[in-house]
Amino acid sequence: MPIRPNLGPSPRLGYAASEIDRAAHCRDDAAKLAKLAENANTGFYIIGGESVVLKDRDNALDPLFSPIEAAALAAPRERVFLGLMGQAPRFGVGLDAAAIETFKARNDLKITDLRSIAVQGLVGAEHLPPLAEAKALLGWHARHRFCPNCGAPTLPVQGGWRRDCPACKAEHFPRTDPVVIMLAIAGDRCVLGRSPRFAPTMWSCLAGFAEPGETIEEAVRREVREEVGIVAGRVNYFASQPWPFPSSLMIGCHAEALSETIVVDRSEIEDARWFEREELALMLARGHPDGLTTPPPIAIAHHIIRRFVEDGCNVLR
Ligand SMILES: [Zn+2]
Repeated sequence: MPIRPNLGPSPRLGYAASEIDRAAHCRDDAAKLAKLAENANTGFYIIGGESVVLKDRDNALDPLFSPIEAAALAAPRERVFLGLMGQAPRFGVGLDAAAIETFKARNDLKITDLRSIAVQGLVGAEHLPPLAEAKALLGWHARHRFCPNCGAPTLPVQGGWRRDCPACKAEHFPRTDPVVIMLAIAGDRCVLGRSPRFAPTMWSCLAGFAEPGETIEEAVRREVREEVGIVAGRVNYFASQPWPFPSSLMIGCHAEALSETIVVDRSEIEDARWFEREELALMLARGHPDGLTTPPPIAIAHHIIRRFVEDGCNVLR
């Protein structure tokens, strides 16, 4: 294994590197937001549950609807202010699932999901972060219509960035759930696992939700211990990624494996084993003799693995 194999230019991580200025100072001015929503250069992203609505014109897919186009689709269930792209306002609009169903018969619209949009590159990469922002925020509204404190119906305020309870006056903010995703490393090898949900050939990093009262490092060590029975020592932060399924923040790390024997927790994952850097390089390049693969470049797992293949255990320095 060369010290640093040449894997070519690093592909772009999905949903990250947003070009949107969230312009939070606009959120408390409802009249201004209503006006912005009617601007000629305003763009709406249309989402219903897991579905995203795209315009389909001459086989070119476009995720942005003008105010007039958006109004012609269906009455919005929710509208949230995402921010400004340059000077152009961007909003997310949530529609009912029933409305989305009726669009499936139309040949001027394509209904798909955000994973497919990212993996297949159906729209320009600059649209992925605002689509992720819209999907996570609209999903939060859909699941938080009642006050968790007193049970009364809550009302959206602040351009969709808060819900207030008129009964007990509690203010509720959108949630982001931290997930640690990590590669446990010993020398030139590391542990990958398989979820039963994966394609049969795919192996990936271990991952799990950080729990209340835990640091990122503690969550990494606990998850590695629980899922594969490996004791982890040093933990190095690598990078993070918004993951709007429904509203996670993936926190990518490399971890030092201090023990060797793998004991798979079958209630969490299907299988796990050690992989050498050489084998991982073949998987990243889609040249593995048994067809084994890593997750696609839109996922942070791809980049966590790639950095280890490139830099070896230097990732733990
Ligand atoms: Zn309340």
